[in-house]
Amino acid sequence: MSAPPPLADRLGRPLRNLRLSVTDRCNLRCSYCMPEVDYTWLPRADLLSFEELARLVDAFAGLGVHKVRLTGGEPLLRRDLPVLVELLARRPAIRDLALTTNGLLLPELAPALRAAGLGRLTISLDTLDRERFRHLTRRDDLERALRGIRAAREAGFRGTKLNMVVMRGFNDDELFPMLDFAREHELELRFIEYMDVGGATRWSPADVVSRAEILARLEARYGSVSGIPARRHSAPAEDFTLADGTRFGVIASTTAPFCAACDRSRLTADGQWFTCLYAPRGTDLRAPLRAGAGPEELRARILGVWGERRDRGAEERLGLAGRERLASQEVLQADPHLEMHTRGG
Ligand code: SAM
Repeated sequence: MSAPPPLADRLGRPLRNLRLSVTDRCNLRCSYCMPEVDYTWLPRADLLSFEELARLVDAFAGLGVHKVRLTGGEPLLRRDLPVLVELLARRPAIRDLALTTNGLLLPELAPALRAAGLGRLTISLDTLDRERFRHLTRRDDLERALRGIRAAREAGFRGTKLNMVVMRGFNDDELFPMLDFAREHELELRFIEYMDVGGATRWSPADVVSRAEILARLEARYGSVSGIPARRHSAPAEDFTLADGTRFGVIASTTAPFCAACDRSRLTADGQWFTCLYAPRGTDLRAPLRAGAGPEELRARILGVWGERRDRGAEERLGLAGRERLASQEVLQADPHLEMHTRGG
């Protein structure tokens, strides 16, 4: 059976790409995502089982979603994650199954994830300096993260991406060492602009190193930087190459957002569906699921929301005068669904 034609929203954007946050918990406390001491966690009873997640994925797949990325929180903290991977990998409609992780648990889990059918990995690493890593994440775990990167390769993962959030005065002097590291380990580095998302309660425009500045610094060091236009359609990263062929990406969600081509949405571990990273509210899919809704009813609910979607959250943020953090700690504690680690990065 061929895939149905993608359903378009009000701005003509298809529904193709689903980020599945499998847990709101994380084993790091990065200052740009989880800087606080205490968090309001999702109630355990609300977390969807693997079977429930798979039923929702089927509903999305029936409407044209063919890419699924497992994320969180830290997705490898979800118990028995390879079982979910296997469930999803078995679905022919899901042609691209990927996972974003901080890598700490890859030494234990990479072989099982590979065997279960996980296609691709993105690993987040912002610094190669142990003291900085400890300061940024409040955990002394750089060595573990590096072991995770090696374990991914040993388990057979190829084309792994490395995400680096660039922050002025913290790690913006590591653009070149990170490129060297990525080249050495056959990873494709993606420089990510620091975003004013929920969770980033310490965000300030002064800390953002823009795409333009990143490219200018790379050009000053390596000579010409060429853009590779092909993948720009909907992928968040813009791809570039250096004169020596080194490939890298830039995710410029803060200064050059890609809302016009955004085909992604996010499902939280408790079944709330968000059609924009900045959306104040989501759609509850857990309630109908647990009330016994069948595939048709779930598809109808999703279709109704996506058909009316007009979100352009990052572009609207760009237009704000006096732009500052999205939400305060108090607001986030009252509504944890606003958090990036709940919504899924
Ligand atoms: N724990 C996993 C990880 O570390 O990759 C997955 C979840 S994490 C929220 C997903 C991605 O979001 C990471 O690459 C992280 O660096 C990024 N991220 C979180 N907060 C961010 C922010 N304020 N600005 C830019 N990227 C951010």
